[in-house]
Amino acid sequence: MNIKATVTGKRQITIPKEVCELEKINTGDQVIFTVKNGDIIFKKEIQRVTCFACRGNKNIEDKDCFICNGKGFLDEEFSNNPLKIISHIAMTGRKYKIEVNFSTKDYLCVDLSSSNYSRESLDYIQDEIQKKIIEMYSPKSIMDYSIFMNPSDAILDSIIRNLKTEDAKEEVRKWFR
Ligand SMILES: [Zn+2]
Repeated sequence: MNIKATVTGKRQITIPKEVCELEKINTGDQVIFTVKNGDIIFKKEIQRVTCFACRGNKNIEDKDCFICNGKGFLDEEFSNNPLKIISHIAMTGRKYKIEVNFSTKDYLCVDLSSSNYSRESLDYIQDEIQKKIIEMYSPKSIMDYSIFMNPSDAILDSIIRNLKTEDAKEEVRKWFR
């Protein structure tokens, strides 16, 4: 793709809308310029966040973390996308002896099983992924996008029941208050 832009008096250019859409560049994002052989390349800086599964420790129970592959960090976009996380586990599961299943009732519910990691570790990680799913699929207030719409008692009950740890249950209950 070749798109023209004009440099203004203050050395500014407007990044074409098509480029922003394609590369998902939003206000506040940082970009990095690389100059090489007369070409100027610029890329959106990939934001990295601490891996939610191993909490940056790179491993789980002395085995490589199966979410970050032992790196300790994740690309922010991946970390925020439960569907990408689930497909990552499905694709690399054989290597880590881990299986991911999901069911859909009121919600997409994820279920991890493994002979390699303890139930305690799996429950924690499963809840972290499940929270991302709840966050992604719960309708938000039109007035204030940071506030969730309250689901019916029955649905909230099934959302909470599906979580494994008390911490996750408590956190999610607070979201819908
Ligand atoms: Zn990790």
